[in-house]
Amino acid sequence: MLNKIEHLGIAVKDIEASAKMYETLLGKPSYKTEVVESEGVSTLFFQIGESKIELLEATNPESPIAKFIEKRGEGIHHVAYDVSDIDVEIQRLQAEGFQLIHETPKSGADNKKIAFLHPKSTGGVLVELCQDK
Ligand code: ZN
Repeated sequence: MLNKIEHLGIAVKDIEASAKMYETLLGKPSYKTEVVESEGVSTLFFQIGESKIELLEATNPESPIAKFIEKRGEGIHHVAYDVSDIDVEIQRLQAEGFQLIHETPKSGADNKKIAFLHPKSTGGVLVELCQDK
């Protein structure tokens, strides 16, 4: 079972400019920035109620975020759901026929274990599962 929307991931070209815009939009500062070198992304988080907004900027031209922006422009990149046990959910969703990009969880930003589902099997939306470490 997926518990709640943990965060929305938003692909941006210029994380500093976008951070300023979001600070104004949300009326509060971000609480964290983190580079995830294995994913080729810089991230920046805003808390909004019990969910978060994650801004994502590519750190290199081969980054999945760079490729996403090239194809589709800036905008919503993924929807992340909080799960209590990511291994159980990966097994359950695979058994239901969903295509996993990561069949074993990996380390993500914000102290999470994460796994992505392929948008081909989720109606065009990249889905992230995340569990607190
Ligand atoms: Zn995310």
